[in-house]
Amino acid sequence: MIPVSKPYLPCFKKYARMLEDSFDRGVITNNGPYLRELEQRLADFLGVPNVICVTNGTVAIQLAIRSLGIKERVLTTPFSFIASSSALVYEGLTPKFVDICAKSFNLNPHLLEVNDYETVSAILPVHVYGNPCDVYAIDEFKSRHGLKVIYDASHAFDVKLNGTSILNWGDVSTLSFHATKAFHTIEGGAIVTCNSELADLLRGLRNFGINDDAEIKGLGINAKLSEFNAAMGLCILDDWDAIRHSRKQIWEMYTKELGEVFQAPVWSSEATRNYSYMPFLFNSVDELVRVKNKLEENNIFPRRYFYPSLNEIPYLSSFDFSQSCAVSTDIASRVMCFPIYPSLNIADVKKIITLTKASLKR
Ligand SMILES: *Cc1c(COP(=O)(O)O)cnc(C)c1O
Repeated sequence: MIPVSKPYLPCFKKYARMLEDSFDRGVITNNGPYLRELEQRLADFLGVPNVICVTNGTVAIQLAIRSLGIKERVLTTPFSFIASSSALVYEGLTPKFVDICAKSFNLNPHLLEVNDYETVSAILPVHVYGNPCDVYAIDEFKSRHGLKVIYDASHAFDVKLNGTSILNWGDVSTLSFHATKAFHTIEGGAIVTCNSELADLLRGLRNFGINDDAEIKGLGINAKLSEFNAAMGLCILDDWDAIRHSRKQIWEMYTKELGEVFQAPVWSSEATRNYSYMPFLFNSVDELVRVKNKLEENNIFPRRYFYPSLNEIPYLSSFDFSQSCAVSTDIASRVMCFPIYPSLNIADVKKIITLTKASLKR
């Protein structure tokens, strides 16, 4: 069976030795040595000043919202995994969808203009598939209207824009380290910010509002990442170059064979890629369903990431009071992600390509 994604697993013996060290130390959570090492190594590797690891990528968004004191309405993209919008609703906020750009599949900054800013306090764009948003236009807009910006960078681990980390844009960026993501800690996530005061606040928020001197400074929650999760992250970080390389080879094979057949998002020419997703845009829903059925008959399971467009989810559609999301609704209905993960062998990729091409012919 070939799923759309399979968790990368490092050398078991190496991971087990690290767990053994945790047992010997008797330290398994609460800001332990692996957690501190992971945060430092991620900051150095990614080229960002502050990394605050938390239990998952959804909580990362929730804590980012709390730390910035965001209220009322938040402009966001309807083309994303449910968590970017559900985190807003969970924090008592109102998502207001802004349609996407038909080329990048990311929030279209030119459509930000038509909003009434009375009750809007922030923008939450998503770097979908690791393809950077138009951060220059969003940043200009942020300054003009005094808004906060949280980038959901769950797909954008190790993506650089013009030589520097994409995570340095906005007030805060959030990452997901879920097992299906390119870099993971089994479950986990992180918040990245250039603002050191905000970083201290976030470290408190993830630990019941308690600071380094054991004083309770305010409201907080428990979002601490355990030592076992951090150890997994350290093992995977050691292997990251090889992981990215395997993904790249698969990505290039698909692109060579199917790049002419289907459209795909236009990847930013100013950014590096992490090859975490392999999306193709079909000419019609009918064509997509035909290919999907054919692959499933052969035990291959591509996924309709992201379908439906979030403005069509019942509990979210009630919030979407004015703006059309026609581009997102259309693209969400015709896009599908093909299997891509380091242990997927090239022979299987070739088989997927052959089956796909065959099912296009009537
Ligand atoms: C995976 C994902 C999340 C949620 O991350 P978890 O770690 O699973 O909570 C949020 N936003 C996007 C865009 C994602 O793909």
